[in-house]
Amino acid sequence: MNEIQSEPREVGTWERHFWFPIPSTAGGGVRHAFAGRRWEGEVAGTSACGSEAALAQPTEVDWICFPTCADCYSFLTGRTT
Ligand SMILES: [Zn+2]
Repeated sequence: MNEIQSEPREVGTWERHFWFPIPSTAGGGVRHAFAGRRWEGEVAGTSACGSEAALAQPTEVDWICFPTCADCYSFLTGRTT
């Protein structure tokens, strides 16, 4: 019965963010986490790791190729180093 209660912060934080691939001007890109349940067409946002980013419809290749931002991941899992 206490499986759900074991990590309430972690679960809640995950649910309130969505991942979004952000192309880098230097080539490539990274997937950052943004507050919200999902992307709703905002043109810009601030990621969980504090980066200002322009949001644009990503391609499937972006989703596949861009690595997950380690800072955003740490924020969402509550593990700060
Ligand atoms: Zn990030």
